[in-house]
Amino acid sequence: MVSRVIPVDPFDLVIFGGTGDLAQRKILPALFRRFCAGQWADGVQIIGAARTKHDGATFRQVVAESLKTHASVQCKDAAALAAFLHCVDYVALDDGSDEGWSTLAAKLQPDRVRAFYFSVGPRLFGSLAERIQSHDLATEQTRIVVEKPFGHDLDSAKVLNATLAAHFREKQIYRIDHYLGKETVQNLMAVRFGNMLFEPLWNSQYVDHIQITVAESVGIDGREEYYERAGAMRDMMQNHLMQLLCLIAMEPPAKFDPDAVRDEKLKVIRALDPVEPHHIVRGQFEGGGPSYRQIVGNPRSTTESYVALRAHVSNWRWAGTPFYLRTGKRLVARSSVINVMFKDAPHSIFGEQAGRHANVLSIRLQPNEGITLKVTIKEPGQGGMRLVDVPLDMSFAEALGPENQEPPDAYERLVMDVIRGNQTLFMRGDEVEAAWAWTDPIIAGWQSRGDVPKPYESGSTGPGDAELLMKRDGRRWQGINP
Ligand code: NAP
Repeated sequence: MVSRVIPVDPFDLVIFGGTGDLAQRKILPALFRRFCAGQWADGVQIIGAARTKHDGATFRQVVAESLKTHASVQCKDAAALAAFLHCVDYVALDDGSDEGWSTLAAKLQPDRVRAFYFSVGPRLFGSLAERIQSHDLATEQTRIVVEKPFGHDLDSAKVLNATLAAHFREKQIYRIDHYLGKETVQNLMAVRFGNMLFEPLWNSQYVDHIQITVAESVGIDGREEYYERAGAMRDMMQNHLMQLLCLIAMEPPAKFDPDAVRDEKLKVIRALDPVEPHHIVRGQFEGGGPSYRQIVGNPRSTTESYVALRAHVSNWRWAGTPFYLRTGKRLVARSSVINVMFKDAPHSIFGEQAGRHANVLSIRLQPNEGITLKVTIKEPGQGGMRLVDVPLDMSFAEALGPENQEPPDAYERLVMDVIRGNQTLFMRGDEVEAAWAWTDPIIAGWQSRGDVPKPYESGSTGPGDAELLMKRDGRRWQGINP
């Protein structure tokens, strides 16, 4: 199966923070891969912008070096690289002064999509938005892209939303959660809403519970200051895990259109019950390497590097079905998986010795994106009716053929969606605020109780209490496998 590329018209993309880590490691390599795939022909301009005074040639050299490290093998062809760099330019500017803005204005073309990617800290969003307006750079076809973290709590998210709304319409604002750009996440919607097989079973009558795990083997190196203020709840749970929960739990939207999908996701967040304190476990890595506290240089830190919780979506579909969510740093493996755990068959005709078997639909986001359905069959051969669970595996590499061994990076999809003007995979302002409204009381509860996270070993599956959270309910976590 060959993937289809639908070319886009020439566009101008300005990356504020073009010299930064995110731009160099993710955004520019994603653009380069799209260029290699034939996503556009001529005339596109990708303009890096930051305070450091580079000229265009120096910036192109910086970009070339990054692409050699971060772009995929297929793209490392010198001619393709030279052609891509031909689209790349740079302007030195500062959000705090008028210097450089008229140079940027002179480079932008009229009558085409003009996107401004705010790959900078959120404190710059307001001043950049203001300069874009005061220098008359915003057109009808202008879009802005903002990165997480989108606020620190509900109040700050409201302020950020209001700041952006003062300069741009909601239809122009693209709030990125890169998990939504993953191929498997979109496939989750295809599996749910493109097949008759699953949707009739997708409810509390047939689903026992759902597990969402986003485990990272890395720590917080290089992000200590930010992480110490954020913790796992703000850094991962409020956005990535919450978005995955929404896609699993939402009702079928009437159509695959941005507001129809986002309306359904918002209903899920609003249907979430407050989380009981005894249904949350916080952890902090300690032992098996340098401890979290050593890394952040704060011997009294109570910031969590791990959180597991049990959530409930109070609506007709999910009443009584728990959603167990967990995420953490320095765990045994890097693995993001959603497991939909179906109920046991109501009666076993094969007797006690056949054991208990339940279907599990596993949606793997990373690594090895793909979907597996565990089904029960007869163990082959003699010896009576013995049952065994086997996976029906649909990895992308197998399903889509060798040319699609490497699924597109989330940023490839998301940046091109910005250019196409498709907001389906981006968070709307009210969704972000609703997610904070659910998260804030949890964090406030920890603060008022003086809660201290439970220690866990680096390289483990997290604190023992997270196992107990499940055990108390007669369940257990699926393994965290690379
Ligand atoms: P970074 O490596 O520190 O880069 C920041 C960039 O912004 C640099 O290009 C810097 O260049 C520029 N900049 C700083 N102040 C500026 C100003 N006043 N006016 C114009 N440009 C300015 O940061 P990053 O890791 O790329 O992260 C950027 C944003 O994305 C942050 O909000 C971060 O939370 C978010 N994010 C990052 C990642 C990631 O993997 N890195 C992942 C998700 C979200 P000059 O110093 O030359 O101005």
